[in-house]
Amino acid sequence: MNEFELIARYFTRPVVPGSFVLAGVGDDCALLEAGPTLLAVTTDMLIAGRHFFADADPGALGHKALAVNLSDLAAAGAQPRCFFLALALPRADPAWLEAFSRGMFALADSHGCVLAGGDTTRAPTLAAAPGPLTICITAVGEVPPASRRTRGDAEVGDDVWVSGTLGDAALALALRSGAADLAGFEPGPVQARLDRPVPRVALGLDLRGIAGACVDVSDGLVGDLGHILERSGVGATVQWPAVPVGPALRVQPDAVRRRCALAGGDDYELLFTASPGRRDDVLAAASRAQTGVTRVGVITEGRDLVVIDEGGQPMDMPFKAYDHFGCHDPAS
Ligand code: ADP
Ligand code: MG
Repeated sequence: MNEFELIARYFTRPVVPGSFVLAGVGDDCALLEAGPTLLAVTTDMLIAGRHFFADADPGALGHKALAVNLSDLAAAGAQPRCFFLALALPRADPAWLEAFSRGMFALADSHGCVLAGGDTTRAPTLAAAPGPLTICITAVGEVPPASRRTRGDAEVGDDVWVSGTLGDAALALALRSGAADLAGFEPGPVQARLDRPVPRVALGLDLRGIAGACVDVSDGLVGDLGHILERSGVGATVQWPAVPVGPALRVQPDAVRRRCALAGGDDYELLFTASPGRRDDVLAAASRAQTGVTRVGVITEGRDLVVIDEGGQPMDMPFKAYDHFGCHDPAS
């Protein structure tokens, strides 16, 4: 049973028509009816040894724990408003807490997003070792009902777009494990993509009324586009040569480039669809948000995702979304 089958089998119930919850399990954010506005709510947990290395820089961790949540709000086109922070700490280390909170509040303040509550516990000691540091943030944003968008809004013939570049976070992990080397490129910018992802909040807002379906790329392009296809009941063709990658990844061997850019995860870019008639609007929105966007494919009939390689042939794709209960591990 993989992560998504587990969620589907045990934790997915039909949304009750006319209830407070307009969209629930299965999207980047739940959408809740709150008077004239919709509240978009998302929660993400980071665990030491699973999502980050135990010696991770605490300032970067504070930033990232909030950033991954703001990225889900961006996918939903929501304006961040507030968040809740639940912590299980192995110990109360003032220097660590000072740096963590500073990193978190710097990002929160830059989006006007207020810490509104949370919970703090001590992680239990297991087999004489302190339990893993666990950080869980729940973020709340606002969307006008008319701007509501979900993973289920892709239509046949739509363009598929992605913001920024993909694969550098996975490349940073590969560097750390010795599975890749940078061949003379500066490691700083690549490492920053893993440690301090920039949530595309402005782009998410500027794409209101323009993007059809939208998802943030947390588990890799193939997996996250797969979520859009499944929820929308459509297929897609993606042109691999069009997929945007940064300079350090561009010179990596083909296999590394493909794995990182198509299935790497931790990119936190926005992947979205829009009708071909809205190309100028997409580009204008991207320019307002000062974020690059690239058209990488098209939504098709059927249910298949086909990636076309440099030679114009469908690629053999052993890639899947990152799956917490699957056989692959990001640190391996
Ligand atoms: P994201 O990567 O944007 O956080 P995922 O694709 O991993 O989202 O999550 C799939 C969906 O399953 C989301 O809507 C999430 O809220 C929901 N989900 C995940 N775990 C649970 C759970 N234990 N109970 C209910 N819903 C869950
Ligand atoms: Mg998401």
